[in-house]
Amino acid sequence: MTRIYGCPIFLENSFVENVALAIDEDCISAIIPMQDITSSEDDIILKGGFLAPGFIDLQVNGGGGTLLNDKPTVEGVRTIAHAHRQFGTTALLPTLISDTPSVIRQAINAVDAAIENGVPGVIGIHIEGPFLNPEKKGVHDVSKFLSLNSEMIDLFSSLKRGKTLVTLAPEKLKPGQISELVQRGIIVAAGHTNATYETIGTALQEGLSGFTHLYNAMSQLHSRAPGVVGAALDADHTWSGIIADTYHVHDAALRIAIKCKPTDKTVLVTDAMPSVGAPKHMRNFDLFGKKVTETDGKLTIEAGNLAGSALDMMTAVKNTVTQIGIPLDNAITMATTAPATAIKIENKMGSISVGKKANLVHFSNEFSVIRTWIDGVTA
Ligand SMILES: [Zn+2]
Repeated sequence: MTRIYGCPIFLENSFVENVALAIDEDCISAIIPMQDITSSEDDIILKGGFLAPGFIDLQVNGGGGTLLNDKPTVEGVRTIAHAHRQFGTTALLPTLISDTPSVIRQAINAVDAAIENGVPGVIGIHIEGPFLNPEKKGVHDVSKFLSLNSEMIDLFSSLKRGKTLVTLAPEKLKPGQISELVQRGIIVAAGHTNATYETIGTALQEGLSGFTHLYNAMSQLHSRAPGVVGAALDADHTWSGIIADTYHVHDAALRIAIKCKPTDKTVLVTDAMPSVGAPKHMRNFDLFGKKVTETDGKLTIEAGNLAGSALDMMTAVKNTVTQIGIPLDNAITMATTAPATAIKIENKMGSISVGKKANLVHFSNEFSVIRTWIDGVTA
């Protein structure tokens, strides 16, 4: 058993002083008041900063110079997870952008094998596309877009270990297809969609539970046509991913989303590209033959479209606090409990309580990551 203390620890919904954590193997085994601690040389004493549940990122296209679409292998997945760990991410969904069924199959197999082999931090897959609306394609390659059929439903539900999150445009599906995916255990989110508020209403009845990068690549909120944005903000029980890199969403738009939703329903995601955690010379990369360049942390293709982000989770939390003006406690919930609840793993991780996975991040008052733990193992 290891005990950790020395800084405020995030319990339930806020940071608490004068408590210690005990870790036994891969789990949190006790939360102990400091007055009951007699120190031992095996204790890990943190000097200042904050100890929070490890961040959970539901949308990670790449990192460490690797894009999942280009390297749908165990090594590719390992590189991405390793790159994000230094920014406090202790669980993530490697995310595949619209691609061919063959690449989708390779990516699912790679994630399955990564989980089986215990690659730290990999908890499932996010497949973004290819059932998307060309009118809201963003940087996706429309030549890869497909219609959903029973063969694809089989393919999408083939991950044996971990969670599968699928982003799709509900207006591109036939009635009943969302509920078929949901019945197979898939978490369905709407994204790259031009659906009406009413179409989303039907999708919600079928089990749609979330929205991918709220505000970006979706129909907007208008007075008589609330669109996908209106539906997302209106439906309290749904979650919305948000890219808080200060480029994808205006500060005020982010504040409005947070005001509209319960705190644990707004999910910080990175939508990260290979440049995150990569050496400087690897920061510019190709995305389906289009050159993506990074300028001041902003990734764009030549036409000017945003191409994912250069964001990491620690910076997303920092931006939410220092730029958007959200209290730290809430920002931590948005990076931990909220994503865990979104993909229904909150009984295992996303908070610090007895029996949960010992996935933790220790970060400084200046929001830099000092140390992480995944399944009780520190790095
Ligand atoms: Zn997207």
